[in-house]
Amino acid sequence: MSDTTIQHQLFINGEFVDARSGATFASVNPATEETICDVASAESADIDAAVAAARAQLGPGSAWQKMKPRDRAKVMWKLADMLSSRAAEIGRIETIDNGKPIFESQFVDVPASAECLYYFAGWSGKVTGETIPIQEGAFTYTLREPLGVIGAITPWNFPLMLAVWKIAPALACGNTVVLKPAENTSLSILKFAEYAREAGLPPGVLNIVPGKGTVAGTALVDHPGVDAIAFTGSTVVGREIMMRAAKSIKKVSLELGGKSPNIVFADADIEAAARGALNAIFYGKGEVCAAGSRLLVEDSIHDALVEKIRDRAAKMVAADPLDPKTRLGAIVSKKQMESVLGYIDKGKSEGATVVAGGARADIGTGKGYFVQPTVFTGVEPSMTIAREEIFGPVLATLRFSDVDDAVKKGNDSLYGLAAAVWTRDVSKAHRVARAIKAGTVWINSYNLYDPALPFGGFKESGFGRDQGRDALDKYTQTKSVWLAL
Ligand code: NAD
Repeated sequence: MSDTTIQHQLFINGEFVDARSGATFASVNPATEETICDVASAESADIDAAVAAARAQLGPGSAWQKMKPRDRAKVMWKLADMLSSRAAEIGRIETIDNGKPIFESQFVDVPASAECLYYFAGWSGKVTGETIPIQEGAFTYTLREPLGVIGAITPWNFPLMLAVWKIAPALACGNTVVLKPAENTSLSILKFAEYAREAGLPPGVLNIVPGKGTVAGTALVDHPGVDAIAFTGSTVVGREIMMRAAKSIKKVSLELGGKSPNIVFADADIEAAARGALNAIFYGKGEVCAAGSRLLVEDSIHDALVEKIRDRAAKMVAADPLDPKTRLGAIVSKKQMESVLGYIDKGKSEGATVVAGGARADIGTGKGYFVQPTVFTGVEPSMTIAREEIFGPVLATLRFSDVDDAVKKGNDSLYGLAAAVWTRDVSKAHRVARAIKAGTVWINSYNLYDPALPFGGFKESGFGRDQGRDALDKYTQTKSVWLAL
């Protein structure tokens, strides 16, 4: 790390600058509890400056407007190449800031972010309108125009990747971006901004404004110079943002929380389903919006499957996130760890049974916010741990009797982000995939993502899609042009 500069200032108009007020907040390594650095904390005057820089690049004659879409694509491609070749550097920053294993940040999140940029670079210049024949004496067509300045607000669980999920399609469509990362994890996206400058992205096209949600976030949502808000985070904050944005009829897209059902039928490959169930809940320490946090198991295989999951969970140990062998890292913050432990206590007090984990973990240093991978059985649909998003390594196991019961219990949630179905019966798999109210359904798999496939929620998991062709709808608007011949 010694030869790596950790960027900790705001990135506005192509420069790293302090907040105008001089305010900062500490960024803490959750595995060691040590402060990594103090990060500049944006307030409304900084948001004004960032929005002004972003707006300037939408004006005629600006560097961004002068670039052909293909040239914009070249910059995005170069940036993706830089991410690929510097995955060790930026991955390490992500790991010390978020606590996730280096295996995940360097070898999954950074490559996935690069892939997202490659994919959307390919769309630049290909988002087109149509000529629509109406009548004699008229020439009518549509233009797909960028929205303008996109205010993006992102969470702490995939700090780099989820930011890139917003930035890549927004830039491909010709917008400019002001992004506010989560206060816990601002460092990887600030590094990304440094790479973007080096790749040739004109100043002002991308601005990064770390800060508090209730200060920098609200200033961005309220700002008259921002055309749309692209938000990923909790349902509670998403609801608040939607209400605030209503004041200026600002377009919003919301990628929110989940309580995703992972449904295992008796005719499934039980070994594969057990591996899948662990991956579904313990990958990313369970701090994954699409985590398979509700395991629904058909009665006849319940005990056999739980036994396999319990044995494997007991062997998973939290360890130093910087060790390449580590698969379970540190919870992002003390506050989040306490929240997860609170849910574990609630599960116990409401009568569910802990069969694995159930407590804070110590990796031998006496430091760090680690939680044991925890598995509950005997969970009833009404229990808190079956209903609320825990956002930690805690699995709630429920039983079901048949397909109808599985679908009913699977859909018994305010959320609808993701789901999975495990069965060898192809027809049953597709029937259940249709019946489940969720934006993504995996069959005999879990946690698979690709930039070409839309991702987003049903119900209170939000609306609008990141990734895939659908994401282009979020960052463009259609204009109809009517010429009387
Ligand atoms: P959060 O909602 O607390 O914060 C998200 C972002 O919003 C942060 O940048 C925060 O500073 C900002 N914010 C907070 N209050 C704000 C306000 N009043 N106005 C404007 N901005 C505000 O979420 P989190 O704790 O960072 O992340 C965890 C949540 O994100 C979970 O609920 C998870 O399910 C969800 N999430 C969803 C997806 C998805 O794609 N659906 C992906 C990842 C995470």
